[in-house]
Amino acid sequence: MTARMRLQPEAVGLGMTSQRVRDRLIERLRAGSPQTPGIADERVLNAIRTVPRHLFVDEALATRAYEDTALPIGHGQTISQPWVVAKMTEALFADGRQPAKVLEIGTGSGYQGAILAALGLEVYTVERIGELLRVARKRFRTLGLNVRSKHDDGRIGWPEAAPFDAIIVTAAAPTLVDALSAQLAPGGTLVAPVGASGAQSLLRLRKQADGAIEADTLAPVVFVPLLSGIVDR
Ligand code: SAH
Repeated sequence: MTARMRLQPEAVGLGMTSQRVRDRLIERLRAGSPQTPGIADERVLNAIRTVPRHLFVDEALATRAYEDTALPIGHGQTISQPWVVAKMTEALFADGRQPAKVLEIGTGSGYQGAILAALGLEVYTVERIGELLRVARKRFRTLGLNVRSKHDDGRIGWPEAAPFDAIIVTAAAPTLVDALSAQLAPGGTLVAPVGASGAQSLLRLRKQADGAIEADTLAPVVFVPLLSGIVDR
């Protein structure tokens, strides 16, 4: 891990947010379960150990932050389950790949973006709900994480900053968004939940050097929908 975070006392955590409770989550992710196959990439596990997930949810939910479950973040949205964050992040590094620049669609709480920044990636993230983005930006600042963000409809990607070595979409669309795969660099990886509600799969697309696309299905998942337009507040 190359990025150093600024950890204030509340980031260190006590009781249900203590290092011991967080380490238990790491062990669980590493061991896996029938529904959540083990995560092997130590860099990813280390990022999850280091980034204080309890600072990405409401204080009332902080005691549940190290359970392997999605939690509400307001506006009908959720912070993803840690296993899903780990799985999507791990997919970017598979087979010796070393992405440098990554685009995330759906900043939400900012947690997935923080994990990517903690891994030393140059992160660009797009969120359509203004209030969620404001709160996420505050978290990035507090932790001293350098994340570029914009308030926009992420279905158009971030053309001015393209191409990206990796793209992570954290809201589900019925089909893949072409504008996003177009912003992937040759050799790059895109992970995105795709499919109708109740029947979504996590897809991994890899763009070959010649531009051809190879697709795999990683896991069945449940994500909030990728919506169009922006919300100011
Ligand atoms: N990665 C987030 C998960 C948030 S849930 C985290 O770690 O917390 C998905 C997010 O995608 C929501 O915040 C939702 O508002 C956002 N979203 C949905 N459609 C979008 C779109 N078209 N453009 C940008 N963000 C979108």
